[in-house]
Amino acid sequence: MDEMRNDRAGSAGQIEVTCAFCAGRGTDPFGVMYAGSTCQVCGGDGVRRLVPPVAECPYCGGTGVYPGSRLTCTSCGGVGQTMVPEDALTCPACAGSGRAKDDFWPDSPLPCGVCGGKGVVAP
Ligand SMILES: [Zn+2]
Ligand SMILES: [Zn+2]
Ligand SMILES: [Zn+2]
Repeated sequence: MDEMRNDRAGSAGQIEVTCAFCAGRGTDPFGVMYAGSTCQVCGGDGVRRLVPPVAECPYCGGTGVYPGSRLTCTSCGGVGQTMVPEDALTCPACAGSGRAKDDFWPDSPLPCGVCGGKGVVAP
């Protein structure tokens, strides 16, 4: 008997997203620890599993890299995609840019305090 069949698309409806930080290569793009060290975002798999709906992270532009640094994006954790609420609304504070207003200085690198850099909020 063919019991133990388990060919669902991922567990609990998750989808596989290519790790943006390493572009799916599985190695740290900056070699922070040493050249060719394992990507800290995906653990070397090149992919991460997320629960849809997901959207490209506006804060890092989908690169997974915290703007102006060699660190992982704090908004998406380096994946380049973020899980967003169903029927998400554009964040009223940052108008979807994911970046804080220029309250502190022009071109502030800080993520939006309302949406945390996702650019959207729950309805
Ligand atoms: Zn990776
Ligand atoms: Zn990001
Ligand atoms: Zn925002």
